[in-house]
Amino acid sequence: MKWIDLRSDTVTQPTEAMRAAMARAVTGDDVYGEDPTVNALEARVATLTGKEAALLCSSGTQSNLLGLLSHCQRGEEYLVGEEYHTYRYEAGGAAVLGGIVPQTLPINSDGSLDLSLLRGKIKADDPHFPITRLIALENTHTGKVMPADFVSKVRVLADEFGLSVHLDGARLWNAHIATGQSIENLCAEVDSVSLCFSKGLGTPIGSVLAGSHSLIQRARRWRKMLGGGMRQAGLLAASLDYALDHNITRLADDHDRAKTLAKGLAALSDLTVEPVQTNMVYLNWDSAEKAKQVQIHLQKSGIKVPSSQRMRLVTHLDICDADVKRVIAAFKEAADYLSAG
Ligand SMILES: *Cc1c(COP(=O)(O)O)cnc(C)c1O
Repeated sequence: MKWIDLRSDTVTQPTEAMRAAMARAVTGDDVYGEDPTVNALEARVATLTGKEAALLCSSGTQSNLLGLLSHCQRGEEYLVGEEYHTYRYEAGGAAVLGGIVPQTLPINSDGSLDLSLLRGKIKADDPHFPITRLIALENTHTGKVMPADFVSKVRVLADEFGLSVHLDGARLWNAHIATGQSIENLCAEVDSVSLCFSKGLGTPIGSVLAGSHSLIQRARRWRKMLGGGMRQAGLLAASLDYALDHNITRLADDHDRAKTLAKGLAALSDLTVEPVQTNMVYLNWDSAEKAKQVQIHLQKSGIKVPSSQRMRLVTHLDICDADVKRVIAAFKEAADYLSAG
């Protein structure tokens, strides 16, 4: 029986068709700017996002890092949600490599930030303080779509203080499918955006940073310095291109399956299910112990989930309707087993 892995949408395997597209790629040396497949992909993403330029990166961590390093100098600061990836999950790279100071803020339940708190953290021009330079947002955050009017208000605030705005759009594709808003509209009010292709879009590797010509020029230098200049990267770019052609609209299936999963699990005792907007279902178990036992039980049924009390289940390219059914049944079994004690 095949494993059903709900831990993340990063676990997808490249399909035969995607691998074939990669094998066919025309390549050149991208550090010389001579890989036609990379150049075409970067131009395509620039157009898609409505930005002047784009840069292929090895991961979302790298493209976010290059964004932060290209916006901020040493001793400058970015304002960021305390659970956003660019603060919490990137090993402090902006501080380690760029001397950039994070100013964290609590995150609202809808994934946005409190505007008055945000305004209050913008520093005056005073030699005691770091220089506030950037606001970092994230869409989607824990599967939630960032409210559009929030992004507009952040833009107004940023303009008032001469700040830039970076968007971690690792799963902006999911926001696009959930809202029907174009990718261009979803990043119209930010200066730079990072998009991941190795999650819902199913490529083995790859993220893209998009922004102005000058920002991308700086990011290209940082990427080289960090050892991220890749040679015949057209092999990878071809998979991103393939994903743009074939794997965006199908995200609606992931969202439907997440909703089906949430509905099927809502009936169980011992847990509550959070509302679903995109491809993530969050379960809150009564106790950490129950969550652990359920995880072990599911593992025996060939299903991988995290063991945390607030348990995240993620639907993706490699999860089909039958898998969802099997998962709901296995959860029911686990719940019965728990209540039998
Ligand atoms: C996954 C993710 C990233 C990038 O992660 P990599 O594993 O480095 O590609 C960035 N931001 C968010 C919100 C993510 O979920």
